Amino acid sequence: MSGQVFLVGAGPGDPELLTLKAVRAIRAADWLLVDDLVDDRVLAHARSGARVVRVGKRGGCRSTPQAFITRLMIRLARRGHVVARVKGGDPFVFGRGGEELAALQAAGIPGEVVPGVTAGIAAPAALGVPVTHRGLARGAILVTAHAAGGEAPDWERLAGCGLTLVIYMGLARLADIVPRLRAGGLPADTPAAVIARATLPHEHAVVATLDELPAAATGIAGPAIVVIGEVVRLADLARTGRAIAEAA
Ligand code: SAH
Repeated sequence: MSGQVFLVGAGPGDPELLTLKAVRAIRAADWLLVDDLVDDRVLAHARSGARVVRVGKRGGCRSTPQAFITRLMIRLARRGHVVARVKGGDPFVFGRGGEELAALQAAGIPGEVVPGVTAGIAAPAALGVPVTHRGLARGAILVTAHAAGGEAPDWERLAGCGLTLVIYMGLARLADIVPRLRAGGLPADTPAAVIARATLPHEHAVVATLDELPAAATGIAGPAIVVIGEVVRLADLARTGRAIAEAA
């Protein structure tokens, strides 16, 4: 009597950006294993009596080890429970969804992925910035600055690709990333932005040139997306002001 696991993308924060399928999976769950980028209002869709386990990495706590989360998920499903593993954004974009799905498959447990709106698309959109735009960018690269296993991205090479760079987990590493992009040939005046807490009430954004971005972003608290490329010329900072006014 095996249960089932949904790997649910909860979107970037605003609970209105949940998909209908995500809401259905959250509602169906007996157990919810929840990452810390997931807004509490998302969990309002859980049915009463459902058990919520926070397995996040923030809030001063050490992260719950991935192996523990995976084991717990499998154990609960084997007891016949429906489990929603709820993650920020999309489960397959820097969300370890691939690893968790593989572990479920290996354990013979039915796993379903519910895609979500990823922060790398939603955060620029909060400024009215499309990650692709005819005449400005023929594509976009989603890249993490977080060097798991010590392997940092080849920023010099990415500088030459001519596509929008959408950088996750890059805010704290801007002082390292920007000189490397410059060394790779990206002009100093390339438009760039940092968008923090996108789609949430305390959303905050700055737009600057590539060279000025590290200084402009000083003091901003994450989570944040860094966007670099010609599309940032389309940014309208008044939009995030409006979003805050509406939320208030
Ligand atoms: N699976 C998630 C990404 C997880 S990695 C997704 O698809 O969005 C965590 C990183 O995502 C953060 O460090 C930050 O770079 C970005 N992020 C997540 N939520 C965000 C938000 N509301 N605003 C800005 N960046 C966010």
